[in-house]
Amino acid sequence: MFCKIAEGALPADVVFESSQVKAFRDIHPKAPIHVLVIPKVHIASVAALTAAHDGAIAAMLHAAKDVAAGEGLVGYKVLFNVGREGGQMVDHLHLHILGGWKEHKPKSLNI
Ligand code: AMP
Repeated sequence: MFCKIAEGALPADVVFESSQVKAFRDIHPKAPIHVLVIPKVHIASVAALTAAHDGAIAAMLHAAKDVAAGEGLVGYKVLFNVGREGGQMVDHLHLHILGGWKEHKPKSLNI
């Protein structure tokens, strides 16, 4: 499904795009600001990473920094869920940017 968003074949609320990554708002936000960053190349999860993905991973982290700054976030969380036991429901690598809480109080993080 995220492959289709990467291709532009499925709509998304895109906040940032480059040749390597796309960032869009989570459809069911778990924080006042919740943006997902995906690589355009298909990578199933952190568990599937190889050295060949180094460029895409670096691009994801740089995009996360730029998206957070663009959203006015000073402090925020950057999170990967890995595998079903880790809460990963979509098998296309994605990084969660979570922030915008008035004060830092999320007691449990079940993203
Ligand atoms: P994860 O549980 O780490 O696999 O996270 C998947 C995230 O994708 C969840 O937070 C969903 O709310 C979000 N999501 C699923 N489908 C879409 C979509 N079409 N557009 C935006 N976010 C989505």
